[in-house]
Amino acid sequence: MTENLILLALIVVLLLGIAVGKAWERYKLRDGRWLDRRKIRESPHYILGLDFLVSNQIDLAIEELTKAAGLDAPALEIHLILGNLYRERGQVSKAIQLHQNLLKRPKLTPMEQAYVLLCLGLDFKRGGFIDRAFQAFSEVTRLDPGNQYALLNLEKLHEEQQEWQEARAIRQRLADIAPAGEKPRDQAILAFLENELGLQAMRENASEVAIKHFEKALELDSQTVPASLNLGDVHMSQGEPAKAVAIWEQIIKTSPERSYLAFERLEKAYDEIDGPARFARFCERLINSNPQDWRARLALGQHASRHGEPSRALDLFFESLVHNPHALAVHQAIWRALTILDFNPVLVRRYVELTHDSVFYLDPHVCIRCRYRSTELLWQCPQCHEWNTFLEERIAPSEDKNAEEAPA
Ligand SMILES: [Zn+2]
Repeated sequence: MTENLILLALIVVLLLGIAVGKAWERYKLRDGRWLDRRKIRESPHYILGLDFLVSNQIDLAIEELTKAAGLDAPALEIHLILGNLYRERGQVSKAIQLHQNLLKRPKLTPMEQAYVLLCLGLDFKRGGFIDRAFQAFSEVTRLDPGNQYALLNLEKLHEEQQEWQEARAIRQRLADIAPAGEKPRDQAILAFLENELGLQAMRENASEVAIKHFEKALELDSQTVPASLNLGDVHMSQGEPAKAVAIWEQIIKTSPERSYLAFERLEKAYDEIDGPARFARFCERLINSNPQDWRARLALGQHASRHGEPSRALDLFFESLVHNPHALAVHQAIWRALTILDFNPVLVRRYVELTHDSVFYLDPHVCIRCRYRSTELLWQCPQCHEWNTFLEERIAPSEDKNAEEAPA
């Protein structure tokens, strides 16, 4: 028993030693002088600070880490963390100042320099100093070409500026250094960036260039739905509906759950090629192969409504409603159809019966702290564990917003 306790105590001391000691070792050796590490060992501030950090109590973490930093001024990482905490708390200029001072230290290794610059870049980004953030992240990649975090930030900055060529080049660098398991994710992102380049070409009326980008996107990842939609749009604009249809129909194979995004386009293209019956057959095929498909029923109903069959349309909307009682689009379609049918009491009663068990039980609420959504009012949030943070979630909160703004 006692032996076990001693063993346990040894392990704890060892772990603490690793946690506290390891970080300082480098600086102690590099500066060529022996730091008084007993002070740190005797001081609970560092561990307490990290504890507060883990439990997300930023102010207390800052307080303890500031004390720890006072005991061991050369410890780089305490100052780095402190700066990052100031940034998180919104005190960007304080964070910038702190990190810039660290950069002035003599004898920083290139890796340490890169790390300080990365933090500084994040400060600049947070403060909205885009050019300076840019410089800092670029400098990091010069010191440490494989720094994924800096590359990722550079890519995001380019994306925010809609500089798609540059963003793509950086994502390609990330893809080149990524382990094999992460390739598909990089391919998918590269495909979305190609799609953006295609859209840019479309805006400049460079149809052939646009087609090349969209095709490249689909080559990188066949599930890039917007690239399929856009590629079809270019073919349509060039007066080639058959080509467009072939591309859009592919979506049903590559991303069936997103195929509804092509419905409106397909309806129009089919009409041009063979007349309206083809779209109806297309929807029926989808419904037969997937009886849960409420979107195909909704589309087929809207198609029937447009072609003078409101009763058949309403039947399809009701079937759609059974499969997704919460879709506002289905309810709106039903309201329109009921209006056309002069609110026939039999049909209205059927609608009320169908919705009784589903929609009116739904009472959507949202946690104002972490945006967790619930179908009922909860007193404690299962995600952020805060008490009494749920508000009723409205589909159209614009009136409330006006009411709030009125007194100001
Ligand atoms: Zn929450």
